[in-house]
Amino acid sequence: MIDFRSDTVTRPSLAMRAVIAQAEVGDDVYGDDPTVNALEEKMASLLGMESAMLVASGTQSNLIALLTHCGRGDEYIVGQQYHTYLYESGGAASLGSIVPQPIPVESDGSLELQKIAAVVKPNDIHYAKSTLLSLENTHHGKVLSNEYLHRAVELAHSYKMAAHLDGARIFNAAVAQEVPVRAITEVFDTVSVCCSKGLGAPIGSVLCGSQEFIQKARRWRKMVGGGMRQAGLIAAGIDYALDHHVARLADDHAHALLLQESLQQIPELEVETAHTNMLYVEFASHEVGLQAGHYLRERGIRISAGKRVRLVTHLDISREDIVQCVAAFKSFFHNLH
Ligand SMILES: *Cc1c(COP(=O)(O)O)cnc(C)c1O
Repeated sequence: MIDFRSDTVTRPSLAMRAVIAQAEVGDDVYGDDPTVNALEEKMASLLGMESAMLVASGTQSNLIALLTHCGRGDEYIVGQQYHTYLYESGGAASLGSIVPQPIPVESDGSLELQKIAAVVKPNDIHYAKSTLLSLENTHHGKVLSNEYLHRAVELAHSYKMAAHLDGARIFNAAVAQEVPVRAITEVFDTVSVCCSKGLGAPIGSVLCGSQEFIQKARRWRKMVGGGMRQAGLIAAGIDYALDHHVARLADDHAHALLLQESLQQIPELEVETAHTNMLYVEFASHEVGLQAGHYLRERGIRISAGKRVRLVTHLDISREDIVQCVAAFKSFFHNLH
């Protein structure tokens, strides 16, 4: 199956599994796992942060960041379509009594600075305390400019708010911009990175911040059940991914672009622009989208169901797979007439 649903579907390669099998491990709750400790140091240094902590998932990473930044009754300002608001089951509010203040996301994936400023609450007992700005990069595959990110962090700090970056796919942003990842991340107070997406590790995210922040975050991680034991098995896969799967993200971006340019030749399909490893296409109707999904599935290609569909390129999709996918799309529409 050529699976375009997400970059989370990537499976650990044999080479990665070999490294995992040989990893030196210990009990990480005691701080005894050398592979975890080394990975945390490596990620912190890559991102230009003091400290880092391995966690089970991106959702757990963002939740712990929010719990550590915000107390009960504090609020975080976030994009209406950002993961930390929309796709984390309401965890911050439900588990942390943290008040979300969502605002609309602009077409480039950013939050307009005036709109952020407009919802920062005055220091008055009638309001929740505005404590955190939570951004996302990449957002729906779009890369936020560094100039924007610097200004947004500056704005947050001017209101004495901290700035968190949900950088689930931050390495895609760095590779697309041809900058070291730290050039994007180091201005933030905290950054969360997913390693089980385009990087191709089977499990794990890393939360980065100051030493003091990460020390506090370790208590929250324990509380939400995220204290793992011989987690070096997870860290080893991530370490391998950092060494072997970062530069190659450029291939995923090139494949998404090839997919975009090829599918644009199909008049029945509305094709958006691929900025990194994601391409959004829209069918005439939900019904046609479902039919296309079935048709492709019978030809070994999986896409999400719907009218507007996200196609994601990744480690397990080759250039030949893109060509095969385009041919299947074309024959679907040919047969539709
Ligand atoms: C996938 C994702 C997460 C959460 O990651 P999980 O590991 O699936 O919990 C957070 N933010 C963004 C932008 C994501 O795409």
